[in-house]
Amino acid sequence: MKDATLALHYGYDKDFQKTMQVPIYMTTAYEYEDTDHAARLFNLEEEGNIYTRIGNPTTRVFEKRIAVLERGVDALATASGMAAIFYSIANLVKSGDNIIISTKLYGGSITLSTQTLKQFGITAKYFDPQNPQTLEKLIDKNTKAILFESIANPALTVPDFEQIVKIANEKNVITICDNTLATPYGVKPIELGVDITVHSATKYIGGNGSAVGGCIIEAPFAKNKLKTKRYEHFNTPDKSYHGLVYTEKFDNPFIARARLALLRDYGAVISPFNSWLLINGLETLHLRIERHSNSALKVAEFLNKHPKVKKVNYPFLENDENYKMAKKYLKYAGGILSFELESYEEAKKFIKNLTIFSLVTNIADSKSLATHPASTTHQQLSREELKAAGVPEGLIRLSIGLEDVEDLIKDLEEAFEKIG
Ligand SMILES: *Cc1c(COP(=O)(O)O)cnc(C)c1O
Repeated sequence: MKDATLALHYGYDKDFQKTMQVPIYMTTAYEYEDTDHAARLFNLEEEGNIYTRIGNPTTRVFEKRIAVLERGVDALATASGMAAIFYSIANLVKSGDNIIISTKLYGGSITLSTQTLKQFGITAKYFDPQNPQTLEKLIDKNTKAILFESIANPALTVPDFEQIVKIANEKNVITICDNTLATPYGVKPIELGVDITVHSATKYIGGNGSAVGGCIIEAPFAKNKLKTKRYEHFNTPDKSYHGLVYTEKFDNPFIARARLALLRDYGAVISPFNSWLLINGLETLHLRIERHSNSALKVAEFLNKHPKVKKVNYPFLENDENYKMAKKYLKYAGGILSFELESYEEAKKFIKNLTIFSLVTNIADSKSLATHPASTTHQQLSREELKAAGVPEGLIRLSIGLEDVEDLIKDLEEAFEKIG
């Protein structure tokens, strides 16, 4: 079956009520048949529901659906995108280890990697996703993961997937790709050889800006790396589960451990209600991503010709520095773009004059959003630091929604007129 069909049907066996909608199983616990049944479930001899912190039937439908769309062997839903990123790293590292992260990452992933994980004795080194050859030298025996984004937020950089995967495979290091901006319809990182895909499902998967959630997807071949010495805790007995060896027991050792050890102990579980909202989001994702992307390209082309605009960043613009990589790897480039005005003041005035776009520090809503990083997310930085971070003070980021694109362009045109 094709993706659009899978997105509507996969993973849901209608229960005895024959409901067309996936039921919201708003329950914390589940009854056992008897103590032997309970013991078998706890000992992982039999699959079944135990407690919603480690599994829920509504959430399971979402997990199966996103796994099939990303061509994974399995998936795990989490309370947020940040929880998905944290768990995917925490699943691999121990104190004294290091990870290698892209210089072009979501801000939260940078602070997690460089500040919060440091408190647990885990360090982060940077690599350039467009020139990943440096990975070869950066990888050492304690390197456990390489983290990058398929379209970086907010830089919109498209990585050199082939080179990253090639070096990571030679050195047997797990790759983690945050596919939030591209969605499985823009690119499927697993098809390019990436081991672990993560999402902030809060964004395009949900699609209406209504639910915070995240997910982790494991490639069928990730297990090969997890069987080696670098990832000893996957292939030696786990004391917390009576000596269970993940790579021996499971085809999905990464997700199994993330669920059985990390969700169990850290507990950032998604609400079944949010899983249900995300299932409904997945049903229309293929339609929405096409519209977001087509409209974003039209807006980018309009801005590209405007005399007041110094520079436009959108991977599918022919003069964009990411165009070659974007055309090589992406089917859709998504709805996020950025452009540069002359000054801080001009950017402020421009945003004030927008009527359809809302000033919000979020992305990938069905409604169009605008942000001015220099006055919000990057406010603490000096003029020089802003420049180094690739955030000029006149930079505006747009998240193109599902409104009629002619109305959006008219809104932008009028805002330009008003800044004079
Ligand atoms: C928003 C975002 C996150 C964080 O996700 P939350 O659901 O807000 O926790 C991570 N990565 C990217 C690329 C994002 O855009």
